[in-house]
Amino acid sequence: MWNRVILAPIATIIGLVMGSFYNVLIYRLPRKISLVNPKRSFCPTCNHTLAWKDNIPVLSYILLKGKCRYCGAPISIRYPIVEVLTALSFLMAVYLSNNIIDLVALWMLLSGGLVTGAIDFEYMLIPDSMVIVTAGGGVLWSWNHNHLFLSILTAALAFGIFFLIHILSRNGMGFGDVEYFGALALFLTPLSAVVAVLIASISALLFAIFTLFKHKKVNRKTRIPFGPFLAIGTLISIFLNFHV
Ligand SMILES: [Zn+2]
Repeated sequence: MWNRVILAPIATIIGLVMGSFYNVLIYRLPRKISLVNPKRSFCPTCNHTLAWKDNIPVLSYILLKGKCRYCGAPISIRYPIVEVLTALSFLMAVYLSNNIIDLVALWMLLSGGLVTGAIDFEYMLIPDSMVIVTAGGGVLWSWNHNHLFLSILTAALAFGIFFLIHILSRNGMGFGDVEYFGALALFLTPLSAVVAVLIASISALLFAIFTLFKHKKVNRKTRIPFGPFLAIGTLISIFLNFHV
């Protein structure tokens, strides 16, 4: 039985804990710091190892008033934001799914999107581990919706077309986007993949226009990370129910 009243608080707590872990990924993956060494989290300013009470999602940030307990350096607001966003995404997925396999697949899609989004905006980089998590979610989803074979075909096509754009645009579209959309397309079918790219392109364009008005120093070399928009496009497209 799919009891959303029981699942909602559990999903929120899992989301907060996973969000805390995603903060570690967002900090360490682009800096090539191992996830197991150092094992414990540390302050990026004074390098002091953090105690368990400094690591409670959201609550620690509020209790410490956004400052490191040891050196007083400000803690980035990104930490509680990622934790809250992950919790809300995990909660939302409970209402978007009807069974545990769909829920886990959506959590993988949303997790990949959040971590990729945070890293891509800062570093213009999509970690391979997030491509793998997303692909795993896609296989689960399309298998559970009886279109795994069609989705593998869609992914191969999407990868091929994006790879061509990557070559022709001379790296205007990064290889990370090619791999990431190949993975996302495992959730999709040919028509829903087209819709996902359309939504991604329109939202990226709107974002570019918004950035242009906000910061005047934008030129042709300014790059917009496409990965997060592809994730949003895929998520919306899944629920528009194009099954071809
Ligand atoms: Zn510190």
